[in-house]
Amino acid sequence: MNGRKAIYPGSFDPITNGHLDIIGRALTVVEHVVVAIAYNEQKPSGLFASEERVEMVEAVTEEFGDRVSVDRFHGLLVEYARKVGAGTIIRGLRAVADFEYEFQMTTMNRHLAPDVETVFLMADEAYFYTSSRLVKEVIGLGGDVSGHVPELVLERLTEKFGGQKK
Ligand code: ADP
Repeated sequence: MNGRKAIYPGSFDPITNGHLDIIGRALTVVEHVVVAIAYNEQKPSGLFASEERVEMVEAVTEEFGDRVSVDRFHGLLVEYARKVGAGTIIRGLRAVADFEYEFQMTTMNRHLAPDVETVFLMADEAYFYTSSRLVKEVIGLGGDVSGHVPELVLERLTEKFGGQKK
C-alpha cells in the first residue's frame, strides 16, 4: 500500500474552510490526497447531491493542482482505500467531541485493514467550530457564514436557501 497517497473521507456537504485547511496540511505529509465523498445512491441524504459536492470540491481545490483529486465512494472505507491503493486515511480533529467517534472508527478500520494507517491532523484554531452541519444551520436562519466556507460554496448555499447573501 502506498503511504504517500492518502484518502480524506467525509460527507463534505458542503466543503468548508476547515476541510480545506486539513487538505493543505495533509499535503505537507503525503504526496497526493483523494478527497473521498461518501454517498449512498439508494438512500441519498444531505443538502447537496453528491455530484454537486464533487464539483464544489474540485473547484475549490484547484490551487493544489494534480496533488488533489476528488472521488465518490460507498461501502467500506478500507476497501475503497485498497481499491485506489492509498495506505493512509486522513481525518481532521476539532474539539474533544470528535475524539470518541474517531477513536471507535479508527480502531475498527485497523481491525479490518492493519496495513492502512489513519493520520489525524488538527484544525487551525480559526476553524475549531466550523462544521458543515453548523454552517447549514446558521445560513438557514439567515446568519453570516462567510469566513467559514469558500466564496463559491457561500454562493451555492445562498442559492439553496433562496436568500440574499448577507
Ligand atoms: P463526517 O460526516 O465523517 O463528519 P465531514 O465531511 O463532516 O465528515 O468531515 C470529514 C473529516 O473532516 C472528518 O475527519 C472531520 O473531523 C474533519 N473536519 C470537518 N470539519 C473540520 C474542521 N473545521 N477542522 C478540522 N477537521 C474538520
